[in-house]
Amino acid sequence: MFKRILIANRGEIALRIVRACKELGVESVVVYSEADRYTLPVLMADDSICIGPAPSAQSYLLPDRIIGAAKVKGAEAVHPGYGFLAESADFARMCADNDLVFIGPSPEAISMMGDKSRARETMMAGNVPVVPGSDGVVLSAEDAREIADRIGYPVLIKAKAGGGGKGMRVCESPDDIEKLYQQARTEAAASFESDEVYIEKYLARSRHVEIQVLADAHGNAVSLCERDCSVQRRHQKLIEEAPSPALTPELREAMSDAALRAVRAVGYQNAGTIEFLLDEDRNFYFMEMNTRVQVEHPVSEQVTGVDIIKEQLRIASGEPMACASRAPFEPRCHAIEFRINAEDPSIGFRPCPGVIKRFDLPGGCGVRVDTHIRAGAMIPPTYDSLIAKLIVWGDTRDEALRVAERALEEFNIEGIATTIPFHLAAIRNEVFRSGDFYTDFVETEMNGVEL
Ligand code: ADP
Repeated sequence: MFKRILIANRGEIALRIVRACKELGVESVVVYSEADRYTLPVLMADDSICIGPAPSAQSYLLPDRIIGAAKVKGAEAVHPGYGFLAESADFARMCADNDLVFIGPSPEAISMMGDKSRARETMMAGNVPVVPGSDGVVLSAEDAREIADRIGYPVLIKAKAGGGGKGMRVCESPDDIEKLYQQARTEAAASFESDEVYIEKYLARSRHVEIQVLADAHGNAVSLCERDCSVQRRHQKLIEEAPSPALTPELREAMSDAALRAVRAVGYQNAGTIEFLLDEDRNFYFMEMNTRVQVEHPVSEQVTGVDIIKEQLRIASGEPMACASRAPFEPRCHAIEFRINAEDPSIGFRPCPGVIKRFDLPGGCGVRVDTHIRAGAMIPPTYDSLIAKLIVWGDTRDEALRVAERALEEFNIEGIATTIPFHLAAIRNEVFRSGDFYTDFVETEMNGVEL
């Protein structure tokens, strides 16, 4: 195991990694921008180092600065968390060139999966079903029209380098394809390094169901079951749960097998997530692979009892994962995660930075809160709006929902607007309670709901 690692992230995930390090007896060094100097991960890590001013482009996104920090502080490895440089193959390669272990997959695996159209081809070759669509990138609006005519409307135009729901456009008819094709390219160019796009059939009534995997250098590869992330706004997740209300044990096994085929097809090591769309007829299709730990990983930790961050450190240090002998995994309870964002859900989830005046956490049986926030904290406008994750669990979905309701009511945040009123309304919604909903749940069921 490593003696000392650098955490190249901020917020709740930096704190989550600091805690795992403490339990493993690994020293942690956390980097921070000037805006994050007085945050909990910085106070709780064994050591810390300032890497620049608040804007991410001048701090958390600077590979040289981070590698320099790791060297100065004598770290052997770098944990990138999620976001920032977590899916940068160049950064992973720079770590290796500087004798630092990147706590994640190989640069080759990152670049293969980061190019979403190439990822589709790799999955098809590995016998994993993909959403019907274009073979590779679509170079002109005429080609887009031809492909859409062939696969049938509606279609989804997606950025090759996509993420965070950006550079995506649903197109319902041939009349709009040219305009939406150009819009998707323009948005992709503004958000990513590449403006290239590809096309998929748009599966309107589908659920987002993803499989969490772990693979090590000793030939072990396991599925930690699924997470259902169908409650989304603008293609971004708000609520995640496991088990998925739509899965049978047989379907779980089939999706886990497909995910493990995907892992083998890329020679993947460390933690990763294979995202699928599940249609009304329970056919599932590969959408993309996330080559990092995800925001919603605690859901899988609660239903399997596996500490994913500790496994990441074991795998990166060359040890076998600790949980391999427990596979195949079955969910041992029902867990739900609610993303508490500094956003006002009553005005289109508008970001709401500011000072937190009160921050009273829920507690009790079946409750976990991952957060870096305390009363008095300032939420800067500079970063992602996630301020806490509330994870609840119970023996059944119904019990988990009861825990959720009282925990969301206990959670008292003053000073800024948050997504808590949205979550309370969502779990009281009949369609959500029935478990029978699709990725359009927020648009179709929550529109106009008084919050
Ligand atoms: P990103 O990397 O930008 O998050 P994803 O490929 O993960 O993009 O897709 C995000 C969300 O968009 C999915 O969870 C799903 O709700 C929706 N989506 C993506 N592809 C399709 C599709 N072919 N049909 C219907 N919905 C889709």
